[in-house]
Amino acid sequence: MALFQEIPSETGRRAYEIKDPVSLESIGRFEAATTEEVRSAVERARKAQREWATRSFEERAEVLWRWIDVLVQRQDDIVDLVLRETGKTRHEAVAMEVMAPCMQIAHYAKYGARYLKTRRFRPAGVMRFTKKLTLIYQPLGVVGLITPWNGPVALTTNPLAQALMAGNAVVHKPSEVTPFSAVLLKEITDAAGFPQDLYQVVQGDGATGAALIDAGVDKISFTGSVATGRRVGEACGRNLIPVTLELGGKDAMIVCTDADLERAAEGAVRGSFFNSGHYCCGTERVYVPESIYEPFVEKVVEQTKKLRQVESCDGDVGAIFWDKQMEIIESHMADAKRKGAKVLVGGEHDRSLSGYFFPPTVVVEVDHEMDLMCHETFGPIVAIQKVRDEEEAIELANDSDYGLSGNVWTTDLAKGEAIAARMKTGSVSVNDIAVTYGIPEAPFGGLKSSGVGQVNGEVGIRGYCHLHPIVIDTAKKAQGGYPYSRKSAEGLQKLVRRVFGNRFLRKWFV
Ligand code: NAD
Repeated sequence: MALFQEIPSETGRRAYEIKDPVSLESIGRFEAATTEEVRSAVERARKAQREWATRSFEERAEVLWRWIDVLVQRQDDIVDLVLRETGKTRHEAVAMEVMAPCMQIAHYAKYGARYLKTRRFRPAGVMRFTKKLTLIYQPLGVVGLITPWNGPVALTTNPLAQALMAGNAVVHKPSEVTPFSAVLLKEITDAAGFPQDLYQVVQGDGATGAALIDAGVDKISFTGSVATGRRVGEACGRNLIPVTLELGGKDAMIVCTDADLERAAEGAVRGSFFNSGHYCCGTERVYVPESIYEPFVEKVVEQTKKLRQVESCDGDVGAIFWDKQMEIIESHMADAKRKGAKVLVGGEHDRSLSGYFFPPTVVVEVDHEMDLMCHETFGPIVAIQKVRDEEEAIELANDSDYGLSGNVWTTDLAKGEAIAARMKTGSVSVNDIAVTYGIPEAPFGGLKSSGVGQVNGEVGIRGYCHLHPIVIDTAKKAQGGYPYSRKSAEGLQKLVRRVFGNRFLRKWFV
């Protein structure tokens, strides 16, 4: 049974029905916005943005604080809806879709003004004698926000808070698989007193997302798969608008010979099963030196067997959010088994439960010939590869088209940092699962196919701005100018020789 299905519509628009992956009951139907509706949402957002941009940081922050008030009041509604839309566990729904959004919004309400403070100073070098420089972080205008289904609230509130605090308006195209949490979020922002049209939701599918990119927005903030990211990047290139692409991953975990094995095993389990494995920075590959391989695998198996999966959201590992992902997980598992992988726990769609459940799974004897180790699986699987030593682990960790995040486990923290620095990936944790996205001061973004640009914190919020330099000449009379002559050119050449031909002067001059 398809959880996301196109249905006939009387209005001629594309229409869809969504089902709960646990109860398999219908959650509701929606219709995709037309291209004209998307365009007019962007036009209305532009009007709202003009007034919003005139508000001080304190005034904008006040609206964000009120937003948190309503999020807290409506947290049960958020959890209930997210559970029905995704089938994730209740604990993860609260942690990821309520608590994380509160933390993200609070961060930008509190620090946004500091990150975007206007700076006034004299430039370096000789320019300092005649010029003053003012750098203003101007909002870009209307931001198009396109989001995926694995964190429907958190992956919206984070970019939304940054874009708004920077003075932009936002038109949001949520995932067609989780459209209703965006409706609730809109209700919450309305109740929090957001100015009309500052945040708007246009429902739809890929074609609606494509229409948003072409609707005259000033930036696209995109989170989703690599394949779609490429299309979005191309469309933004055509429109000459900036874009951040937060894409998929295939995160590696390196267990060093001196690691606390109990803790590392817990890290492999949590890193691979969190959010049913639908975590862009989920641990998808584990490399373990042969000297510690057996005890490590034993601990992972032991911990995995204790996890509960039940026909509700009150277990430890939730449902697979939609059937398309189940197909990918099953095909990666089938390919791995065909090529010699051994399943120690789980391994197959659990049909004894009525919903879409794939049990927490442990697989060994895997290698880089298998899809399971090369392509994003996005499922609850710990895949462990035995390696000669830590050097081989680093080599294999880097042998990937992806580079989103990763983690290293060792009791020698200096060694952990040194290995982390050699990993070709957007970020790395030592002795923890990938948590960079939850720490705004840490710029987050992927290398290689995992994305373009960095988000969050100072770097992220500034990405929603044009850094506008204003140069003010403070000299009493105009500098340089006409008429040119051979003499004036020779004078410049003399200056170049004197200053840049002199090892001391040229350092002072710049
Ligand atoms: P997806 O690429 O299928 O869809 C993402 C969004 O793009 C949806 O809203 C979709 O409707 C829209 N879209 C589809 N085609 C489009 C087009 N041509 N133009 C514009 N928009 C279009 O991704 P998904 O399956 O919803 O999400 C899962 C993926 O997201 C995984 O690969 C996961 O790793 C990744 N992800 C990355 C991060 C990160 O921060 N790097 C975070 C969460 C998820």
